[in-house]
Amino acid sequence: MRILVLEDDQPLALGLIQTLQAEQYVVDHFNTVQLGLQAVSQEHYDLVLLDLGLPDADGFSFLKEFRKQQVTPVLILTARDSIDDKIQGLDLGADDYLPKPFDINELQARMRALLRRSTGQARNALEYGDVQIDTQSRQVMYQGKAINLARREYNLLEVLIQNQGKVMSRHSLEQSLYSWQDDIESNALEVHIHNLRKKLYSKLITTIRGVGYTVAAL
Ligand code: CA
Repeated sequence: MRILVLEDDQPLALGLIQTLQAEQYVVDHFNTVQLGLQAVSQEHYDLVLLDLGLPDADGFSFLKEFRKQQVTPVLILTARDSIDDKIQGLDLGADDYLPKPFDINELQARMRALLRRSTGQARNALEYGDVQIDTQSRQVMYQGKAINLARREYNLLEVLIQNQGKVMSRHSLEQSLYSWQDDIESNALEVHIHNLRKKLYSKLITTIRGVGYTVAAL
């Protein structure tokens, strides 16, 4: 899952990034509305954490522009907690609103809830044939046996199963695995796919030559 953090309070942003990375989210961080809009026009995110008081413009103006193009969940994090601000945020298409200071565990629970809703899951669980995934603990079971996956192998498996039946291009898979700062080795994706086939089963993922990969719809 790739998260965009738009926040100009540097210590808060760094704390958020560290916590979210420890939870295995891929995180990009920017501190202005302009950079945020540029990022969402080029990259795909699964969720946006949005501060309202940004130096170049109001976070609401980001939200307005963003909602013209995308339905990705937006969670507003702000010191402004007047009812009017909340109403305006929700009316402009924010999905949730958490006043600062917030408890990091509550933030994470709300993020999970938004991500579940946007992927159509009612619980923190995904099932695909004999493969079971607990998306909160990131535990994967295959035929009742726990499978040990590296961070990116897990992320890749989750994205493919959530999009079962669709062919995922290399580019879109890489987008969900890496942030802007990461160096991507040209064969990294193939290596992760190879490992998933080995650790789970070889027919799980089909290569579509020249296009990308797919997990068949069940
Ligand atoms: Ca701010």
